[in-house]
Amino acid sequence: MKESIEFIYKEQKELSTLGGIAALLGWDQMTYMPMMGAAARSEQSAFISRIAHEKIVNDGFWNHIQNLSKNIEALSIKDRAVVKRLEKDVEKSRKIPSDFVERISKTTTIAYQAWEKARGNNNFKVFAPHLEKIVELEKEYCGYINLPGPRYNTLLDDYEEGMTVDVLRKEFSFLKTSLVEIIEKIKNSETFKNQEKINIKLDQDKQKKISQILFEKMLLPKEKARIDVSTHPFTTSMGDDDVRITTNYGRDSPLFSFFSTVHEAGHALYELNMPKDEYKDTVISDSPSLGLHESQSRFWENMIARRKSFWEHFYPIFQNTSPETFNDIGLERWYKIVNQVKPSLIRVEADELTYCLHVILRFELEADMMDDKVQVSDLPNLWNEKMNEMLGVVPQNDVEGVLQDMHWSGGSIGYFPTYAIGSIYSSQIFKKISDVNQNLENEIEQGNFANILNWLKENIHKHGRLMTANEIIKNACGEGLNSKVFVDYLKDKYYCIYEV
Ligand SMILES: [Zn+2]
Repeated sequence: MKESIEFIYKEQKELSTLGGIAALLGWDQMTYMPMMGAAARSEQSAFISRIAHEKIVNDGFWNHIQNLSKNIEALSIKDRAVVKRLEKDVEKSRKIPSDFVERISKTTTIAYQAWEKARGNNNFKVFAPHLEKIVELEKEYCGYINLPGPRYNTLLDDYEEGMTVDVLRKEFSFLKTSLVEIIEKIKNSETFKNQEKINIKLDQDKQKKISQILFEKMLLPKEKARIDVSTHPFTTSMGDDDVRITTNYGRDSPLFSFFSTVHEAGHALYELNMPKDEYKDTVISDSPSLGLHESQSRFWENMIARRKSFWEHFYPIFQNTSPETFNDIGLERWYKIVNQVKPSLIRVEADELTYCLHVILRFELEADMMDDKVQVSDLPNLWNEKMNEMLGVVPQNDVEGVLQDMHWSGGSIGYFPTYAIGSIYSSQIFKKISDVNQNLENEIEQGNFANILNWLKENIHKHGRLMTANEIIKNACGEGLNSKVFVDYLKDKYYCIYEV
């Protein structure tokens, strides 16, 4: 027993070290690495992930886990939690043949290049045969893991453990109907018809200054976190006390760098507050799902940073940084600008209200593809039909439509729903926090986020993977995933802004 305990903790420590190295290689590649470094870097990254994979599926490791699992009653509470979690993870990884891992990695590398080429040529047909191969491989994968119910359950489980197609169909169909109805009402309002075209420019150094202020206000400690620049913003963590976020100051509107900084800072706060102490360098010290991780970024981005009270504090900071840009806009107009609803074609540019429809569209297509109800060749037309149905806009070409996201080229089928799950969870979290803290709006108005962060640490962050995401939300908010809370929040907010 003692030998097994020592072994599994040593292995987890080494896996966590390898994870940190992989994160550092990836972060550098996206930020500072010169272009020609790519070839060597991809070898280095592949090498690290191969070592990690070999460690995870190693028979010796599995035997020690099994040995402990058989004697689980004799273990401490902490060791029990670690062994149970580890057993589940490792058992899953061991079901996948190593030749499959190699095949999918090769296929997705080529598919990513094909996707880029297809976008360049604006032609889905260039990407289609590669996506077909990926869909077949994903089906093969589902065969190895084989969770009960539709195949798609197996894919969902990798990103959102325990989530099923049935639950999502129910939540998403309510969400979809409600969103379409809300958007319809808003589109018919006079405020919508007369809404201004946003055209605000801000020097990059001023955007940067604002992002730095935001970084501090959100209580990200400088000695543990930093912000850099990349094409697409992301967050990564290289160790317990080292988290990196990125943003991009070169986009059309300064709103992009601001809201992406808030978003990534939300992810970073979660990363920094994962369970340490006894669970340091174990499988527990991580997020249970992408949906819960996304709930943390969306909580700060939407629930906090798109509120009127937030701008009471932050708008003066914008005005001080660039009086010539912001002095004659004014707070009221600005609040409407940052919450402007505009049904559009591209998911990553979508506003808070229409965003989830982009996700639901992808969910419906993915679930039907895995059920053999939809073929890859059907995707462009179905995509456009659904866009029209849900958002009333139709892509003029594949780049604006089915080719816009890279996820499928990487084999990430089942990933999209976590974005909407995160939005729903974030509204449930906000509702709970405002129930328990009567002074909340006041605190936000003062730019004081300490109580909010403490609540998140205590109720979400500190649990790591001791429970599933849905259990954590249930414990914290009194119920699991509930899209009705999100819909009520959206109605309250947007009917008021659009005077519906
Ligand atoms: Zn995110």
